[in-house]
Amino acid sequence: MAEYPSEVRIREVGPRDGFQNEPEVIPTAEKVRLIGMLADAGLKRIEVTSFVRADVIPQLSDGADVLAALERREGVSYSVLIPNERGLDNALEHRDRFDEISVFLSASETHNRKNVNRSIAESLEGLMSVLARARREGLRCEGVVATSFGCPYEGAVPRDRVLEIAERLREAGCAEVGFGDTTGMANPRQVSDFYAHARDRLEGVELTAHFHNTRGQGLANAVAALGEGVASFESSFGELGGCPVPPGSTGNVSSEDLVSMFHEMGVETGIDLEGLLAASRSVQEVLGRPLGAHLLTAGPIDWDGQG
Ligand code: ZN
Repeated sequence: MAEYPSEVRIREVGPRDGFQNEPEVIPTAEKVRLIGMLADAGLKRIEVTSFVRADVIPQLSDGADVLAALERREGVSYSVLIPNERGLDNALEHRDRFDEISVFLSASETHNRKNVNRSIAESLEGLMSVLARARREGLRCEGVVATSFGCPYEGAVPRDRVLEIAERLREAGCAEVGFGDTTGMANPRQVSDFYAHARDRLEGVELTAHFHNTRGQGLANAVAALGEGVASFESSFGELGGCPVPPGSTGNVSSEDLVSMFHEMGVETGIDLEGLLAASRSVQEVLGRPLGAHLLTAGPIDWDGQG
């Protein structure tokens, strides 16, 4: 039997990865209320917004207002996604309101070009100065490598290229590197193989798994990562997030499905599943449509057999 970590850390990315993919702009007060519910449920890491250009992602144009309004809970680490120097400038006006930043690039040239209109080399160069400044500000830094397990435009993405990018991010001061399966192309065997190599090459870095459930393989991939000792995951409540194309694609692996599975496996998360489900039901109401998380339909397993 595989040796699994006895506990894992989960970063809730729904307020960023999820809300940015919604066609409607969610009112700031609702975002702040939902972030509060997530913190109440025991989520200790929450990505609350990003500082991207408002004309590119209007859904998150209220990032500064969200930061200003959220009620900071003790023991909760709030993070923001930073695309570039300009985004960092804007975020730093609210320096006391968050603890971590995430920066991102793609391991696929085509995807990176389509996403941020830069080559990988240009992205890395830009991120070096962002990370240096963020570290001087005492911010913990995560580097996220999108399309780590496959690219919808290029197909296979060489593992070594992904790991080289991760090494550059480590050199630039990232304490954590997240590997994103941005469009749900990963499979469990590939994930096991990937993290076994990542573990060897990236000693001293927290390795994070960010899976999308686009093809229903998010949880299987999470177990594969767990089996390689990965103890840090990113997920979205309700299964929010994902990609607008093709229509109907589902989002990130759902936080409640992930938490339920981990608890059933005896892996601690520190998260109260009922509290998390309350937040997911609430965001469902705000959005006015059912979300994809299985637990929202089935509820937690009841071992006492009360139905
Ligand atoms: Zn994602």
